[in-house]
Amino acid sequence: MGLLDKERATLDAFMPGLDEFLAGSGLEELESPNSKGITAFRSHGGPALLVPDELSGMGATALQAVRIQRAIGARSPSLAVATTMHHFSIASLVALSELPDGWEWMLLEGIATENLLVASGFAEGRRDGGILHPTMQGTSTDAGVRVTGVKRPCSLARSMNLLTASVRVPRLNGEGTQLAVAVIPAESEGITVTPFWNSFALAGAESDQVSLTDVLVPPQLLVRMELSEDECLDDIQTAGFVWFELLMMGCYLGAASALVERVIANDRAPESDRLRLVVELEGAMAAVENIARQVPDGQRKRSLLADSLIVRYAVQDAIARVVPHAIELAGGLNFIGSSDTAYLAAAVNGLGFHPPSRAKMARPLLDYLAGDELEIV
Ligand SMILES: Cc1cc2nc3c(=O)[nH]c(=O)nc-3n(C[C@H](O)[C@H](O)[C@H](O)COP(=O)(O)OP(=O)(O)OC[C@H]3O[C@@H](n4cnc5c(N)ncnc54)[C@H](O)[C@@H]3O)c2cc1C
Repeated sequence: MGLLDKERATLDAFMPGLDEFLAGSGLEELESPNSKGITAFRSHGGPALLVPDELSGMGATALQAVRIQRAIGARSPSLAVATTMHHFSIASLVALSELPDGWEWMLLEGIATENLLVASGFAEGRRDGGILHPTMQGTSTDAGVRVTGVKRPCSLARSMNLLTASVRVPRLNGEGTQLAVAVIPAESEGITVTPFWNSFALAGAESDQVSLTDVLVPPQLLVRMELSEDECLDDIQTAGFVWFELLMMGCYLGAASALVERVIANDRAPESDRLRLVVELEGAMAAVENIARQVPDGQRKRSLLADSLIVRYAVQDAIARVVPHAIELAGGLNFIGSSDTAYLAAAVNGLGFHPPSRAKMARPLLDYLAGDELEIV
């Protein structure tokens, strides 16, 4: 039984041949800005992974999805991160479609049958910007809301068919504004994509800038967040964050596993040290799987979101312990012989940059543990 056999078997069951393609392409190709990874994901039917069976999708569970993201992350961290942004959009649309008057099932069916990729634009590239506090504004017109602003970094920027973007819009009753998510076709008038990502690390995720200038969003493609006075998060945001944290943890545990895989077969490294790497990684993955198993019944619960954030920061710490140890055990000749080791060592740090950051969440999590509502900042 190999370290990632279970994960690769799950990937093969849903997207047969993708792992073989990725393994044959190699990290250098897959992590470059011109990577063929996203095209391959699409040609293997990946966009439909989380769309329910009855809407022509593959209906993967959260447990299957985190295993798949780990398998992909071990071959291409960029592809895992980019596709997480797609899956996060889909998981949120599925949660919305389950509401009594949900119409999103039509969109989901279209995404599955036409194999469409959905980018997710929440960040705006501002220091101290809150992920739930977009500065992108919409103005009301007779035909819908017109949206102007920038989203960056936005993974899948050059391959997306649809963009989901957070935006502040005037309330329907004219009193103030509210948070909403707009679903926008990529070819809409007023959308442009320009370079933003200047690092070699994770460059295959196409995390560039998407600019919107007076883009028209018809009312049926605008989802308004209705929060009551005493709510910090609604059920859909809660479910979305749970999925996001889970899938991202899978990606970066996959990247760390790629390093450990290279070391555990190395007879020159002490057995107890090699086993320690496996124990750390599998312990972290077991914690992720524990959250994933609770998703079907618990994804709207603030308590599951709090647990997933705590696990996410623990996973960051596990990766930070495992990776330098694995590199040392692999040895200098391994480090010198190819850039793969140095690349993976850089890429795994990305987990700390995804929202919400540990430092920002310290107060809200401590307040939550003292009995307050959970808040995401
Ligand atoms: C590979 C990759 C792909 C991405 N793709 C997407 C995407 O497709 N769509 C998308 O929306 N976003 C995406 N992002 C963006 C990401 O989600 C973040 O929004 C972005 O990295 C935030 O930048 P920052 O960490 O500099 O932000 P900041 O929030 O400014 O944080 C900078 C540092 O300051 C600390 N800090 C800030 N405020 C506080 C505070 N109040 N208290 C304590 N500490 C604080 C933080 O903890 C952090 O250490 C991606 C990021 C990466 C790494």
